[in-house]
Amino acid sequence: MSDTAPIIETDAVIIGAGPCGLFTVFEMGLLDMKCHLIDILDRPGGQCAELYPEKPIYDIPAYPCITGQELTDRLMEQIAPFDPVFHFQQMAEGLEQLENGKWRLTTDIGTVFDTTCIIIAAGGGSFMPKKPPIPDIDSYEGISVFYSVRQMEQFKDKELVIVGGGDSALDWCLNLQPIVKSLTLVHRRDSFRAAPDSVTKMRTLVEKGTMAFQMGQVKALQGASGQLSAIEVQDQDKNIQTLKCDTLLPFFGLTMKLGPIADFGLNLHQNLIPVDTEKFETSKAGIFAIGDINHYPGKLKLILSGFHESALMARQAFKYCRPDAKLRFEYTTSSSSLQSKLGVDDKAA
Ligand code: FAD
Repeated sequence: MSDTAPIIETDAVIIGAGPCGLFTVFEMGLLDMKCHLIDILDRPGGQCAELYPEKPIYDIPAYPCITGQELTDRLMEQIAPFDPVFHFQQMAEGLEQLENGKWRLTTDIGTVFDTTCIIIAAGGGSFMPKKPPIPDIDSYEGISVFYSVRQMEQFKDKELVIVGGGDSALDWCLNLQPIVKSLTLVHRRDSFRAAPDSVTKMRTLVEKGTMAFQMGQVKALQGASGQLSAIEVQDQDKNIQTLKCDTLLPFFGLTMKLGPIADFGLNLHQNLIPVDTEKFETSKAGIFAIGDINHYPGKLKLILSGFHESALMARQAFKYCRPDAKLRFEYTTSSSSLQSKLGVDDKAA
C-alpha cells in the first residue's frame, strides 16, 4: 500500500476473521454499524478453516454436525447482506487514540483505519509461520526467504525451492510452477500430509520434468546480503547435495502468537484480555474483546460463547457509534426493519 493511501473511516474494525469475528459483523450490522475485518490469514474462518476445516463440530446450536469449513461458509453467507470489507494477509499492528476520541489502527502493510470501535476477535493470536531450524535463516527473510505467498508475481522467473510436505507446500508447488524459472520441492520423506489429488498432480509434474522432488532436509543456506544463491540438502545417508536456488519458501506449519496486540496498552491476564461480562469491553473504552482471546470468570473457549459475547458487545458499541440514537430490542422474526437490512423482507411478508 502506498504512503498516500486514504485513511479508511468506519464504525468498527474487527481484528480476526475467525467464527466470532465473522458473527460480530452480523450483530453489528443489525444495529446499522459498518465493519472492516483484518486477518493475517488469506481467508476467513480462523482456527475452523486453518486447523480443522474437515473435522465435524457437534456443539453449534441447531447444527447437529457441521465441519469447520462449512461453518465458515454459512457465516459468510449470513453476514453477506452487511457487505463487510476484508483486509486479509495483514497484521493489525499499531494503535493510537486520536484527539476526537476515535482510534487509529494501522496494519503491517500500511492500511490505516480511523474507527469508533475496535473489536479484538483474535482467538489464540495471529497465526505465525513456524521457522525451520536452519542457521542464519533470519538474515535472508523478506529478501529471498518467505513464509507465505502474498503476491504470486513476486515469484515470477525465480529459481524456487519449496520445503514441506503439507497442503501449503503442495498447493504452492502447483500454483507457482507455471510462472517460476525452476522449482524443486524438498521434503524429508517421500510421503505427504497433503490432499491426495495435489500429491498426484505434483508427481505428474515431476514425471514430466517441469519440477523436481528432492528428499532430504535443508541444512544450510549459501548467499550474501540476504540474497540466496544455493541451499545445502542432506539426504537420509547424510550426503549433502547443493541446489541452485534464489528463493526459498519453507512451509513448516503455523503457530499462534498474541503478537502486536500485546503492545496495545490493554490490561492482560496470561496473554488473554480481561473483559466485563455485560459489554465485553477491555480496559480502554471503545475497545472490545470477544471469543477465545478474552478472559472473565467462567469463560468457556467455545464458538457459541463468542457468538453470545458479540451480541451483547454490539449494544455497547452502538452507544459509541450512534450516541444520539435510541437502541431498541427487536426480534429478526418479527421486525420488518431488521428483515429489510437482511434483504429478506419480501420472503417474510
Ligand atoms: P480464531 O478462530 O482463533 O480466529 C482468530 C483470527 O484472528 C485468526 O484467523 C488470526 O489469524 C487472527 N488474528 C489474530 N491476531 C491478529 C492480528 N494482530 N492481525 C490480524 N489477524 C489476527 N470450539 C467449539 O465450540 N466446538 C468444537 O467442537 C471445537 N473443536 C475444536 C477442534 C480443534 C482441533 C481446535 C483447534 C479448536 C476447536 N474449537 C472448538 C475451538 C474453536 O475453534 C475456537 O473457540 C474458535 O475458533 C475461536 O474463534 P475466534 O473467532 O475467537 O478465534
